[in-house]
Amino acid sequence: MFHLQCIKCNATYPPEERIYTCPRCGGLLEVVLELDKIHVTKEEMDPRWMGVWKYREFMPVSEKARIITLTEGGTPLHRVDNLREEFGVKELYVKNEGANPSGSFKDRGMTVGVTKALELGARAVACASTGNTSASLASFAAVARLSCIVLLPTGKTAMGKLAQAILHGARVIAIEGNFDEALELVRRVCDEMNIYLLNSINPWRLEGQKSLGFEIVDQLEWEVPDRIIVPVGNCGNSSAIWKGLKEFYEYGFIDRLPRITGIQAEGAAPVVHAYREGLDEVVPVENPETVATAIRIGAPVSAPKTLRAVRESGGLMEAVSDEEILHAQKMLARREGIGVEPASASTIAGLKKLLESGEIDSDERIVCVATGHALKDPEIIIKSSEAPITCPADMERLKKVVAQVL
Ligand SMILES: *Cc1c(COP(=O)(O)O)cnc(C)c1O
Ligand SMILES: [Zn+2]
Repeated sequence: MFHLQCIKCNATYPPEERIYTCPRCGGLLEVVLELDKIHVTKEEMDPRWMGVWKYREFMPVSEKARIITLTEGGTPLHRVDNLREEFGVKELYVKNEGANPSGSFKDRGMTVGVTKALELGARAVACASTGNTSASLASFAAVARLSCIVLLPTGKTAMGKLAQAILHGARVIAIEGNFDEALELVRRVCDEMNIYLLNSINPWRLEGQKSLGFEIVDQLEWEVPDRIIVPVGNCGNSSAIWKGLKEFYEYGFIDRLPRITGIQAEGAAPVVHAYREGLDEVVPVENPETVATAIRIGAPVSAPKTLRAVRESGGLMEAVSDEEILHAQKMLARREGIGVEPASASTIAGLKKLLESGEIDSDERIVCVATGHALKDPEIIIKSSEAPITCPADMERLKKVVAQVL
């Protein structure tokens, strides 16, 4: 019903094989579903609920698999009319992935990834992470009773994410280096010490994440938006969304495809550079730097998949500054009541920039994917906002202060 295939040399492998890249050429692997073996109608997919396992027929796990779930997915798709008016665009939505159990879309991937880890008989799982992957993996590993090791770059992980990994019982190792170095190390340690790797290079994880694409069109009553805007870090999510939508298109659930538009931070924009220069692979950025720590990645492993998704779909890649990101974070919070972390706000910043430059048409129907919750990184909010006004515990003084701020 499904197998693994190399996106570079097309070699295929059975699903039982515990590999993350092509043993023959080192290329990225992708799960290939045999869509003609799937028989389900829209109505048969349980209409009472949303979530990753609503689309079980499209999820590559065996019938008898023990599914590890925290009821992930099923997140709100907000129609954001205040922002829509301000931007002067036809129709605008925010897909709020911060509403997932651990506060980011990573949960969609981990429910499938950890289910697969059990199927493959793993006893320990590991990842390198800018934060959210570790928070998510730690919580799913806890339910599955698997040992969990996470490698985080020292001092660069947002406080909420670090706290979650610790809370859920992961063994946290702070690597004196950046994310790219941590990922390189964890890949080798997993190979040599028989630990199951759950970074987004793991093709099974991306199968869960493709449900984000499924859910967007499902929530729009199968009316495909013109464009989906996604923050791009390691390139797992943007390519997974595209894969899911292509499957629904080929299966016949939708009759067209949206443009995938990826946003990076200026200080960590290797995919934007590759896109502009027409390359299929990225030239790594040496010292990536941005307030949006979730996308502070210089050598994204799945870049060829995202570049393919953006080009195939007729989308584009754009970079935004930290200042634009923090401004967009406040706009979304103050106009729409939606609190997101900086990486997520990059999509709003990117939309604003691309509308102003005319690269996105105001006549479009657009979905911005807000990937993670504001409380993941409370420090950046405090640091980039006005401090609270202090006031003595005195009624007369308080009235003066209130009169001033009203
Ligand atoms: C992981 C993450 C991203 C980047 O996704 P990739 O799949 O690495 O491109 C963006 N935003 C948030 C909040 C994340 O946790
Ligand atoms: Zn290959």
